[in-house]
Amino acid sequence: MENSLFLTFSSFLFVIHFVPLAASTPSYLSFLQCLSKHSHPSDHILSRVYTPNNSSYKSVLQHYIRNQRFNRSTTPKPDIIFTPLQESHVQVAVTCCRKTDKYLKIRSGGHDYKGISYVSNISFVLLDMSNLRSIDVDIQNETAWVQAGALLGELYYRIWEKSKVHAFPAGVCPTVGVGGHITGGGYGNLSMDYHKNFLPLIFS
Ligand SMILES: Cc1cc2nc3c(=O)[nH]c(=O)nc-3n(C[C@H](O)[C@H](O)[C@H](O)COP(=O)(O)OP(=O)(O)OC[C@H]3O[C@@H](n4cnc5c(N)ncnc54)[C@H](O)[C@@H]3O)c2cc1C
Repeated sequence: MENSLFLTFSSFLFVIHFVPLAASTPSYLSFLQCLSKHSHPSDHILSRVYTPNNSSYKSVLQHYIRNQRFNRSTTPKPDIIFTPLQESHVQVAVTCCRKTDKYLKIRSGGHDYKGISYVSNISFVLLDMSNLRSIDVDIQNETAWVQAGALLGELYYRIWEKSKVHAFPAGVCPTVGVGGHITGGGYGNLSMDYHKNFLPLIFS
């Protein structure tokens, strides 16, 4: 009798512990734990995470899908979308993808012709840079600090605000992301007159 009581008791414990755990143990749990562990609580880093259960997941994903061929219900989607608000968030995301063996994809403007920045048959984390788009133009020194999530049109506009005789030779399409464009090279209206787009660059 003692034995059967114990069994009943322990299987009750098993059930109430197992069910919620099963519902909250998708493959990305270790990644989320890692994000929390490696960031300051005041960063609220988990508020930057969108999983398929989140009501905003779809709109965040679709916002920078620029090729509708990759915007289908059958298109493989990220396990997690992470939208950093500060550079340290990016560092933590990269660290945690390495630590938890997650495949990381980076999306800036989402103009990749093959959707490489947000489509994969392998389960992956999408690092969406769209909140990191500050542009700091220093006309006196003829330099600019530009975050990867800024768009080319935004960059041209910020330069134009400060000078009517300066420009940066890059792509024609204003919604192309600086991040993907610069890392992949490119061409634009000023390329022939000046130089290939990205000679005057310093990466940080
Ligand atoms: C409508 C359209 C117009 C275009 N016009 C021009 C043009 O006039 N001139 C020209 O040269 N090209 C043009 N392109 C091509 C465009 O420059 C490239 O596709 C570019 O890679 C897009 O960058 P993105 O950030 O918008 O795209 P994304 O899809 O975000 O990224 C493209 C690639 O770069 C990687 N990547 C993105 N951000 C980062 C980052 N921060 N760090 C490391 N890797 C990153 C992604 O993982 C992906 O592999 C055009 C493309 C389209 C669709």
